Amino acid sequence: MARLAQTAGLTDIQEEILATVRTFVDKEIIPHAQTLEHGDTYPADIVEGMKEMGLFGLTIPEEYGGLGESLLTYALVVEQIARGWMSVSGVINTHFIVAHMLKQHGTPEQKQKYLPRMAAGEVRGSFSMSEPELGSDVAAIRTKAVKGSNGYTINGQKMWLTNGGTSNLTAVLVKTDEGAEKPHQNLTTFLVEKPEGYGEVLPGLTIPGKIDKMGYKGVDTTEMVFDGFEIAADQVLGGAPGQGFRHMMDGVEVGRVNVAARACGIAIRAFELAIEYSQQRRTFGKAIVEHQAIAFKLAEMATKVEAAHLMMVNAARLKDSGQRNDVEAGMAKLIASEYCAEVTQESFRIHGGYGYSKEYEIERLMREAPFLLIGEGTSEIQKTIISRGLLRDYQSRG
Ligand SMILES: Cc1cc2nc3c(=O)[nH]c(=O)nc-3n(C[C@H](O)[C@H](O)[C@H](O)COP(=O)(O)OP(=O)(O)OC[C@H]3O[C@@H](n4cnc5c(N)ncnc54)[C@H](O)[C@@H]3O)c2cc1C
Repeated sequence: MARLAQTAGLTDIQEEILATVRTFVDKEIIPHAQTLEHGDTYPADIVEGMKEMGLFGLTIPEEYGGLGESLLTYALVVEQIARGWMSVSGVINTHFIVAHMLKQHGTPEQKQKYLPRMAAGEVRGSFSMSEPELGSDVAAIRTKAVKGSNGYTINGQKMWLTNGGTSNLTAVLVKTDEGAEKPHQNLTTFLVEKPEGYGEVLPGLTIPGKIDKMGYKGVDTTEMVFDGFEIAADQVLGGAPGQGFRHMMDGVEVGRVNVAARACGIAIRAFELAIEYSQQRRTFGKAIVEHQAIAFKLAEMATKVEAAHLMMVNAARLKDSGQRNDVEAGMAKLIASEYCAEVTQESFRIHGGYGYSKEYEIERLMREAPFLLIGEGTSEIQKTIISRGLLRDYQSRG
């Protein structure tokens, strides 16, 4: 992409990482994405390639064997990967969130125990807040951990766990009895180590099979059932219970930038496909791009791609500078996911009947884009976060 979604002020290292990832996406992801996605096949070779490039340790500090790169670098890498195939970005996204939570909130022992192996891609992270009865309303979590003499016993059911079967470390948010008045102060994140796979993977812990989804195929999304599962007290993230909501919200905040980046990637690809197709397809004696209605669609699509990219980059830079970015991450996620759905739809229309054929990439993008309206908080939840943040800063003096 010569012109759109450029980012000013990157370091030489960032430019180099992005160029390497872009080549990898063009050679190793795009040519295989359709077949793997239609077969709902886990992209094992691509994941190995990402391990070799060090992408699993991209943001993990160098002292733990990672590359110590910023959220911005990560987001730009994700944008590139999602341009190739969103499911591949899904494999590293949950890993990245768990690594971030450990880096920010883990005890020294937890960091030492997990981060070096996470950087090498040996330990692969997933995270779980949602349950069958709740997603947006996180404070209503029912899965419960009860403290005994030898640690905790967990009972309950989790839902929509991305990489549930293919990860071996899951950060799980559950209820504990801290006697706090506010429900979210009674939530604790546990670091659940488990083998990869499905079925009863440990006594009291079952990962039923993959949920059959509309898109976002290849990457597994599962339930997680706890039935008297026992876990040591030192697996509480940060050591102290009752802090889980804060930890997860911090993770989700970087996750929102990440979802915005994915949306940018899909929108870029949808635009690339549309501008290519519109110069080849002819109707009424000329290329369809010569009909102003189509050229204007492309202009609007490109403008949306550009706006979403800039807001995503702004939100990432803000977080990297150490400032709170809840409003900006919410705005970036909101606009990037909504624009992604619109740009993808327009690209689909430009493809005419062929857009409905499974031979054309746009068909897959059409099934991927809607997930971004939901994951890491729906558009309605983003608007709630944004408006609350605005009212914090623009309080009436009247
Ligand atoms: C493919 C996939 C992968 C996922 N991966 C993960 C994962 O790895 N880990 C994880 O924890 N979760 C994951 N999720 C869950 C996801 O985060 C939730 O689906 C999402 O947060 C929405 O929750 P819900 O589905 O329960 O919808 P609900 O919360 O039931 O919302 C239903 C509708 O009501 C609206 N709504 C809800 N509350 C309000 C309100 N206060 N005001 C206005 N409107 C409101 C919502 O916007 C939505 O339109 C995944 C979901 C999918 C589909």
